[in-house]
Amino acid sequence: MSHTPELPERYVCTNCHIVYAGTVRHEDDTYHYSAPDECAACGSTDFVTFEQYVRHKTA
Ligand SMILES: [Zn+2]
Repeated sequence: MSHTPELPERYVCTNCHIVYAGTVRHEDDTYHYSAPDECAACGSTDFVTFEQYVRHKTA
């Protein structure tokens, strides 16, 4: 069965604004994305989704 996952959700560190692809877990034939545990650059654990981030910037 070839199943193409959707594009991973992206998350933005609210501290240094680096964008991460969400961590993928494959469960029950569906893909779940979650934010990284902490930012590799600054150690912050505060993430928003890319969509939220863009909305904040343009609002
Ligand atoms: Zn960061």
